[in-house]
Amino acid sequence: MKSIFASILCLILIGIANGQAQNLKAPTESAMDRFLRYVKIDTQSAEDQTTTPSTRKQLNLANLLAKELTALGAQNVRVSEFGIVYATVPGNLADNSKVPVVGFIAHMDTSPAVSGENVNAIIHKNYQGGDIVLPKDTTQVITVEKNPLLKGLIGDDIITADGTTLLGSDDKSGVAEIMTMIDILRQNPQIKHGTLAIAFTPDEEVGTGIEKFDVKGFGAKFAYTVDGEELGEISDETWSARTATVTFQGKSTHPGTAKGIMINAMYAIGDYLGRFPKDMLPETTEGRVGFVHPYAGVIDVESSNLKILLRDFDISGLDAKEKMLRDMVAQTAAKFPEVKITIDVKENYKNMKEVLKNYPELTNNAMEAAKRAGLKPFLKPIRGGTDGSRLTFEGLPTPNLFTGGSNFHGKLEFNSRRGLEKSTETLVHLVQIFAEKS
Ligand SMILES: [Zn+2]
Repeated sequence: MKSIFASILCLILIGIANGQAQNLKAPTESAMDRFLRYVKIDTQSAEDQTTTPSTRKQLNLANLLAKELTALGAQNVRVSEFGIVYATVPGNLADNSKVPVVGFIAHMDTSPAVSGENVNAIIHKNYQGGDIVLPKDTTQVITVEKNPLLKGLIGDDIITADGTTLLGSDDKSGVAEIMTMIDILRQNPQIKHGTLAIAFTPDEEVGTGIEKFDVKGFGAKFAYTVDGEELGEISDETWSARTATVTFQGKSTHPGTAKGIMINAMYAIGDYLGRFPKDMLPETTEGRVGFVHPYAGVIDVESSNLKILLRDFDISGLDAKEKMLRDMVAQTAAKFPEVKITIDVKENYKNMKEVLKNYPELTNNAMEAAKRAGLKPFLKPIRGGTDGSRLTFEGLPTPNLFTGGSNFHGKLEFNSRRGLEKSTETLVHLVQIFAEKS
């Protein structure tokens, strides 16, 4: 009985575009089981550190993944001095040089915002609808109202944390899915694919890991970060981002003898803040609409300053926002002529679409792969930056793919068995599509 059952379990079905189905041998370990193993390893990164990785504990997962990659037949497996895991999965075509080397990247660290220590993953088997109350802190509730996606997960096995930590689906889902793809390819040599480059990075959440990425050594022509959310969501667009610093220079003196001498910069900064249009702020915008966001500052008689984020998907929109901030400086300066006001604007990153528009096949192949996995793919611009945006401008065009996860960076994070499996299946289709089209 057991052996018959096992051999049935050994076959999974992957639908392909022409309506046929291939019988595939299952991976040696499911995406779900891998995921549950990885989330137990605390890999929280930390802000404002001088080292990469920012926390040594990220190396625990890096070293484990390097070992597992070797066991899965990957080649040239190495952990760099910065804790980045690199590997190559050899192609199995007669002439691999005809297919571009495609990279797959996920990050190992979890957000500094919420603890990732002693993650106790809970599997809500055969979910039958309704809100999900997390058992160790019952004030933590994943509601259907705020998570309409739950309505599509009836019958699925949903994975959450217990209410005291984040889950780490961001981005251990991506890690587990890439590892399971490699496993499936090894179990099924009939799946034809070119050479794949694999990387798992530390410190994505604090923005520093990718600075140490060896684009040349990675050896891919294109890559995908597997770090998105809802099934089917593909992103080839991020913000273009700038930061402005406005400085208000006054003059301080002893208040007892200040008459006619003191120039209090605080009133000028107050006036400037009052000029921000209320419909152009993070709290009043969504979708493709950009914003300006005063987020930190110093208030002082002698010298006050304000730091402001500018975000927009279009450079022209970003230019308009910068001009507005400069015009506001002129208006405040006219009202406070004794205060010296200066504005300095720096570029942070650019919308990767500016480069990716020249490589439409990357998005198209991903859409096709998701369709073959039975999903409805859609494009979603990211209201933020990704590691891929940086890589894209360093010569490695890198859109972002979904992982099936939701509610990143918080205790209400979740993914599901189907989320992990369908994301993995999409990756398997994607490598085949690159081989077919070359
Ligand atoms: Zn992430």
